[in-house]
Amino acid sequence: MTNIIFIGPQGSGKGTQAKILAEKLNIPHISTGDLFRGLTKGPLKEEVDANINQGKLVPDELTVKILKQRISNPDCKKGFILDGFPRNLDQAKLLDNIAKIDKVIEINISDKLAIERISSRISCKKCGAVYNTITNPPNKENICDQCQNELYRRADDNPEAIKKRLETYHKETKPILKKYQSILDSIDGNQEINKIAEQILEKTR
Ligand SMILES: [Zn+2]
Repeated sequence: MTNIIFIGPQGSGKGTQAKILAEKLNIPHISTGDLFRGLTKGPLKEEVDANINQGKLVPDELTVKILKQRISNPDCKKGFILDGFPRNLDQAKLLDNIAKIDKVIEINISDKLAIERISSRISCKKCGAVYNTITNPPNKENICDQCQNELYRRADDNPEAIKKRLETYHKETKPILKKYQSILDSIDGNQEINKIAEQILEKTR
């Protein structure tokens, strides 16, 4: 069984890499967003909806309850990859109560590169496709390849807002790495996607 956590700042390519590894190891990739979206009718969903409708964040205890249910599914028998959880030490401690983590992969990039990558990100409102004006531009400037819709930059993807999110990452998420020191592997995120994927696979075999 291999239970893996992916940690990295926005722009590190963490989600992309988690997805690639999940396919290679044939275990589910569980992102926090999918976790909530995948909830079926029932008391947990009602609780989540109640929080969201009141404009509140979903409390950690509730997230862990949902996660516990998710990882008890048969598809997690061989393991799972967590992406976006835990985000801070409190969450990591709660996670201890429901699962044994075997490996933590950190994808490391400089703040400068993160800002560069995120602020060059554009996406399609219609189909959700994401492009990058530097590394992955659409064929026609500002037009979606998939559906020919106009592409836009998210309002909170400006350098000031990104810096704020990176500060939170350093202050709250980074301390988790120390807790997982003995099972941690750090990967340089400033490389080609395939290269990073190869290195991660090596560390998780
Ligand atoms: Zn589109």
